Amino acid sequence: MDIHEYQAKDILSGFGVPVPRGGLGYSPEQVAYRAREIGGDTWVVKGQIHSGGRGKAGGVKVCKDEHEIFDAANDMFGKKLVTNQTGPEGKIVYRVLVEEGVDIAREIYLGLVLDRSTERVMVVASAAGGMEIEEISAEQPDSLIRQVIEPAVGLTAFQAREIAFALGLDPAQIQQMVNVLNGCYKAFTELDATMVEINPLVVTGDSRIIALDAKMSFDDNAMFRRQDIAELRDKSQEDSRETQAADRGLSYVGLEGNIGCIVNGAGLAMATMDMIKLAGGEPANFLDIGGGASPERVAKAFRLVRSDANVEAILVNIFAGINRCDWVAEGVVKALEENPVDIPVIVRLSGTKVEEGRKILSQSGLPIIRAATLEEAADRAVNAWQRDLTHAAKIVAE
Ligand code: GDP
Ligand code: MN
Repeated sequence: MDIHEYQAKDILSGFGVPVPRGGLGYSPEQVAYRAREIGGDTWVVKGQIHSGGRGKAGGVKVCKDEHEIFDAANDMFGKKLVTNQTGPEGKIVYRVLVEEGVDIAREIYLGLVLDRSTERVMVVASAAGGMEIEEISAEQPDSLIRQVIEPAVGLTAFQAREIAFALGLDPAQIQQMVNVLNGCYKAFTELDATMVEINPLVVTGDSRIIALDAKMSFDDNAMFRRQDIAELRDKSQEDSRETQAADRGLSYVGLEGNIGCIVNGAGLAMATMDMIKLAGGEPANFLDIGGGASPERVAKAFRLVRSDANVEAILVNIFAGINRCDWVAEGVVKALEENPVDIPVIVRLSGTKVEEGRKILSQSGLPIIRAATLEEAADRAVNAWQRDLTHAAKIVAE
């Protein structure tokens, strides 16, 4: 789960990381009012979306007076920002942060990530701040400083100082940097984060170290015990297909092809996609209904897969152990009776209560194509999809 910059700054600030004074607004008037509370003569207006690269997309504006602040905020609200991280669909600004302007002498990159190869939290830093980490590793890989943290020991003072020295900081800045590193590491581990990124972490003209930007991601599987973090979720910033699935306890992965897949278990999902490809098709997505899925849950899954405009055939492939084939069949029939579809539906059931399940399908009188094995199911799905396309093409041609 991702959160906004202002939320990440709030959290990190609580762990002793200095951040600029700022305030959040949901309207240009509020933003201007917040700026007046902050005072000073320079402010930065920042659109809040779950993405970096806002600066280049017009989402960060330095302002000199209240009119500029109002106009900048007014311009940002409701605007779709397309950055190198959002994809072409972009993300819409509904919240705007205004902060005191900071006099920047140096920009540093600082990130804490989960490094899968060492199975440790790794600190990544670079003196080439302001650039995205991808650019830094492509253009200035030698500037990257890496420190792997031993979980039983935590970030040591020695490691933190070594990072600060490697960044070429002055003696007066070393202790500040150590505090920033300690705060980030503590926030990371205590809150079940998967990523903390401060880019840029700046050194000001008067030698203070401040987090000018902040980004945090959290482990979805830990959110049940981090209610205060879970509440920071902003669904307006997420892929609506995946959010809808997650809210219904289903796990959904969107892909680029045309055959929608409803399966149980990640392994079966992989096998199903392989078989579809082998048969000459491409999966549009896969939706995992998990174990013990009720008919209602299956019907929901079915509706969700169908709502994807790219889906031109649906394959339901269930190998039931904890699941029940009769419940799956009931769910599919329920979804189809409520909302008939004009695309082929292929169902393969195997395992617990399979006879009952097949009976429900055949007694429904619905044009469901049935298959006995995974291979047959994939073949029939791809064939049905191709036949349907030729048919559709003929109608268009006529
Ligand atoms: P991002 O583009 O989404 O990563 O947004 P950032 O918060 O990193 O801001 C982008 C850039 O705007 C920074 O790298 C800074 O160069 C600039 N910027 C942000 N805040 C200030 C500020 O207070 N003063 C000045 N001079 N520049 C700022
Ligand atoms: Mn940034």
